[in-house]
Amino acid sequence: MYKPTVNLGLFFNQTCSLCLQYPQARAGLCHRCLADMPRIAPACRRCALPLEGSDGLICGRCQKRPPPFDRTFAAFAYRFPLSQLIPLIKYHGQTGHLGWLADSLACALQDNTDDLSHEPSQALPQVLIPTPLAPSRLRRRGYNQAALLAGRLGRDLGIPTDLRSLTKPKETAHQMELKGEARRRNLRGAFSWSGPTYDHVALIDDVMTTGTTVSEISRLLKKSGVGRVEIWVLARTPSPGDH
Ligand SMILES: [Zn+2]
Ligand SMILES: [Zn+2]
Repeated sequence: MYKPTVNLGLFFNQTCSLCLQYPQARAGLCHRCLADMPRIAPACRRCALPLEGSDGLICGRCQKRPPPFDRTFAAFAYRFPLSQLIPLIKYHGQTGHLGWLADSLACALQDNTDDLSHEPSQALPQVLIPTPLAPSRLRRRGYNQAALLAGRLGRDLGIPTDLRSLTKPKETAHQMELKGEARRRNLRGAFSWSGPTYDHVALIDDVMTTGTTVSEISRLLKKSGVGRVEIWVLARTPSPGDH
């Protein structure tokens, strides 16, 4: 049975990482901020979009056209404050926020596992694999926020991180600037895999919007013999068209 031990330490008398006013209650946040964080619930187990009017675990879109990954888990909806924090982390070097955000994702995964502990498919992934940046972009930015996130999450959950097997040899245009088919074309052949045929992995990223990037990577991993591919992200845009 999947039962990760979340090792978050104890933060006595520390103030909330978000409001900087009240004492921390869990994963760096006070009770008030925890309650105010935007979430998608109930969410489709497969794509993490809202389950509207469905009493199953999988949305109609995924039932009709299953995505190439097996499960998506998002800690939060990509709304305020995530829509401000994540650009600060990515483009303005404020990586300090990744700590409590990773802890929040670890806690949310554990809560979800508690709810679903009757499901026999709930095994722990063997490794966490961050979405890679192309070398030129990594040099300019100085860090890959997905790799930092995976490292902290791996420590929280006791899962190793594989930083080598998945690479992005060439730089591509920003996905945000493209739509639909152009997004898919832009990423075709952009990633490269040289890892072992793991049975079960989790791909780690900060945000999932349309899912084009994680779909491209999932197809590559599955083609290379990897079994189960899960997507774990800090935040998911609540509708597939949002940015
Ligand atoms: Zn607070
Ligand atoms: Zn779905």
